[in-house]
Amino acid sequence: METINNYINGSLTEPVSKQYLQNIEPATGQVYSLCPDSDEHDVQLAYEAAKSAFDGWSKTPLEERMLMLMHIADGIEKRMDEFVAAESKDNGKPLKLARAVDIPRAVSNFRFYASAIQHFASESHQMPGVGINYTLRQAIGVVGCISPWNLPLYLFSWKIAPALATGNCVVAKPSEITPYTAYLLSKVCIEAGLPKGVLNIVHGLGGKVGQAIVEHEGIKAISFTGGTETGKRIAATAAPMFKKLSLELGGKNPTLVFADCDLDETVKQVVTASFSNQGEICLCGSRIFVQKSIYEKFRDAFVARVKTLKVGDPNNADTNLGAIVSEQHKNKVLSYIQLAKEEGGKILCGGSDLGQTELNDRCKNGYFVLPTVIEGLHFQCRTQQEEIFGPVVTLTPFENEEDALTMANSVRYGLSAAIWTNDLKRAHRVAEKIEAGIVWINSWLVRDLRTPFGGVKASGVGREGGWEAMRFFTEPKNVFIKS
Ligand code: NDP
Repeated sequence: METINNYINGSLTEPVSKQYLQNIEPATGQVYSLCPDSDEHDVQLAYEAAKSAFDGWSKTPLEERMLMLMHIADGIEKRMDEFVAAESKDNGKPLKLARAVDIPRAVSNFRFYASAIQHFASESHQMPGVGINYTLRQAIGVVGCISPWNLPLYLFSWKIAPALATGNCVVAKPSEITPYTAYLLSKVCIEAGLPKGVLNIVHGLGGKVGQAIVEHEGIKAISFTGGTETGKRIAATAAPMFKKLSLELGGKNPTLVFADCDLDETVKQVVTASFSNQGEICLCGSRIFVQKSIYEKFRDAFVARVKTLKVGDPNNADTNLGAIVSEQHKNKVLSYIQLAKEEGGKILCGGSDLGQTELNDRCKNGYFVLPTVIEGLHFQCRTQQEEIFGPVVTLTPFENEEDALTMANSVRYGLSAAIWTNDLKRAHRVAEKIEAGIVWINSWLVRDLRTPFGGVKASGVGREGGWEAMRFFTEPKNVFIKS
């Protein structure tokens, strides 16, 4: 069985405690590797390595830093098959999804920020006859990056790449539920010749390793992606320490389908937006609001399409939905389906896990939930208000635009929204009024890495992406010179 190790000061090292956690393949329910059960001692070692590396790395010429990030991207690409297999095995997602989305995106994240650092510039403000102000954008120092299990390497690299590009040194923690591709990334960094201590990856539990990173006096900024409750705890610890914080948190995203949309295309795309990655993408649209005049037509076409989705072995080429990431998370998703029934919801399809008999031998102990569509629930009930983060969506009719906005904005979250309409004016109007950090019109999950990424309300604080991340990972200092 493979043993994963931490990456500290340029080497793969066992945790100080010498304790390991079992890493389970969700598609089979079997332990297949061991993940370090690190603690604050490992975080301290990682911090010391990062601190020693900071002076050298922050002064490294931009072109050299750019080349190093490019080497890392090339290293991931060279091991594409290995990364793809590991991501699918660790998370349960279909192999083809890891190949089409997760790993190529991790490569792009490194390339994007490698290039960005060469174009990043700071401002100057002239005061005629008085002098000139110029703004330095300096690396912060040692920063912490903490990421979740749903898009493991994709989100991990989305933080690490801009942090390194801007000259910071990093102590990073992937989710202990999906640690494997972060481990492979350590190997790539060693092969690429990343100077020791520049990036340190400490594996282990959130309550131990994550908390130790957040509490560490010397770690000056925290970039976190994960659940809203965890984000709240992190903010409670880090804010009184005056750390810079970027929090990308949960969502309960609305999809608004207006009567004037292209129905066939909308149905197709909304199915994708609902169930990609088993519904375990923070941007999935889990509350679908449909204008009354087309409600039945949309519902019937939508449910018919959902019924064609194949759930099963992530290794099979025709699988649309793989396994739920863990048994615990599967049980959480199922408990929400039960709650929906108690709240008066009607299950239109799915509604349960996949019976052992329907799974192949390899997967019979895996964690699979059928894509589930529910109707008949009030928009303010718990099922429609709380994040489920699985293959479960609700369908709710609305009368008019005002109605749709009231329902869409009724949750505490505000991450993303999708609007389906052919009325351009309506699209603009609704996009402006909807409480979300990201709005897609007649599309979903189209990503340009230059755009600001993040949510409002309980979906987070701050933005990632493009210059936003470069600004987050640098400290502006204004310098005035008298003329
Ligand atoms: P969690 O909040 O449980 O965990 C996220 C990361 O934080 C993990 O590495 C976790 O470690 C760690 N962690 C847990 N407790 C602490 C702590 N006290 N201090 C520091 N770190 C801690 O989220 P999940 O992994 O369950 O991910 C799912 C959530 O992430 C969903 O709510 C989803 O919406 C959100 N998400 C948001 C995105 C966005 O961009 N807004 C994108 C993707 C997901 P461990 O795994 O060991 O618990």
